[in-house]
Amino acid sequence: MDFEAFFAGELDTVRADGRYRVFTDIKRHRGRFPHATRFIDEDTQAVTVWCSNDYLGMGQHPAVLEAMHSCLDECGAGAGGTRNISGTNHYHVLLEQELADLHGKESALLFTSGYVSNWAGLGTLAGKIPGCVVFSDALNHASMIEGIRHSRAPYKIWRHNDAAHLDELLSMYGPEVPKLVAFESVYSMDGDIAPIAEILDVCEKHGAMSYIDEVHAVGLYGPRGGGIAEREGLMDRITVIEGTLGKAFGVMGGYIAASSNLVDFVRSFASGFIFSTALPPAIAAGAAASIRHLKNSSAEREMQQERVAQVRRKLDMMGIPHLDNPSHIIPVMVGDAKKCKMISDWLMDNHGIYVQPINYPTVPVGTERLRVTPSPVHTDGDIDRLIKALSEIWSHCELARMATAA
Ligand SMILES: *Cc1c(COP(=O)(O)O)cnc(C)c1O
Repeated sequence: MDFEAFFAGELDTVRADGRYRVFTDIKRHRGRFPHATRFIDEDTQAVTVWCSNDYLGMGQHPAVLEAMHSCLDECGAGAGGTRNISGTNHYHVLLEQELADLHGKESALLFTSGYVSNWAGLGTLAGKIPGCVVFSDALNHASMIEGIRHSRAPYKIWRHNDAAHLDELLSMYGPEVPKLVAFESVYSMDGDIAPIAEILDVCEKHGAMSYIDEVHAVGLYGPRGGGIAEREGLMDRITVIEGTLGKAFGVMGGYIAASSNLVDFVRSFASGFIFSTALPPAIAAGAAASIRHLKNSSAEREMQQERVAQVRRKLDMMGIPHLDNPSHIIPVMVGDAKKCKMISDWLMDNHGIYVQPINYPTVPVGTERLRVTPSPVHTDGDIDRLIKALSEIWSHCELARMATAA
């Protein structure tokens, strides 16, 4: 086989579909985020990042950096092994205690990323519980889908956020069948929020385990940053809470929090946990410092919500269409893949505004969008520049506007 020709041919197909991903090469600057420098061949450009998942700017928080610097100097670079073979550093243990406490659970288990925590967590639970059937929300993240597939357990997909449909599907199985219900709290592309209490009612009615991905909510919601389930007082009714340390917490890593037995079970059977080098201790120390800070401070959350409201208000004033939702994610709707990419390029080239276009297959065709994520570190000036530039391109491309609020 001509491998090179095969690879090139596949890539041509992706390009022809307009799905070829081009990475934007930037350097974020500590203390100046969301401002960054973009690298274009020999040139550089000053840019403002409007599409980061470092939702609160914790990636440059002094408490986080101080914890990472001092741990790096204290412990060195890497963990030195898998958790079982010399790689469990005291900072991993402290972080797991911090996470268990955050979610009011007996125990927590750290993974190298949120992706791995979903893949290994769901894969292990669904794969190792005899006869387990999985019930998965239609819009679940790729990492959950891959974990469920990997488990080889049979699965049913329920309509997005539709607890009645979940109830219907669960009713098809007798009480003797072990059931695992997997869903998210904040969905990352539409920014909508699951009816968690209703879903838990249904789970409890059928004796099903509940597994929630709070990746886009931890750090951001609840009085201590425990997520939507904390805000709604539902954490103790959820079997497994999964989260990331790479988004609002600003560092890297993923985790599950649950009962001691469940966590010990995953720790003992999950290949993706057992056979992989533990996170560098400095990463664990930084993440723990970030969690600790956000448990005690709501200032960042409040400021973020204020910034989000201001961007929404200004988009409304200009009639720029965006999906209304109860979260911090603002999807500015374009509805056409080529235009979406073109607008994104234009914003970058003419205004140094960096918003990545979100096209198929991440979102359905016809709902292409710019996913804007305001943070406490975006200033009034940053917001005004974004709105002005969007309004300009909307006029230039003769894109439809919404009726402006009176
Ligand atoms: C980003 C994401 C993950 C993966 O988390 P990482 O820490 O980035 O690997 C899992 N679930 C959802 C919903 C996500 O958006």
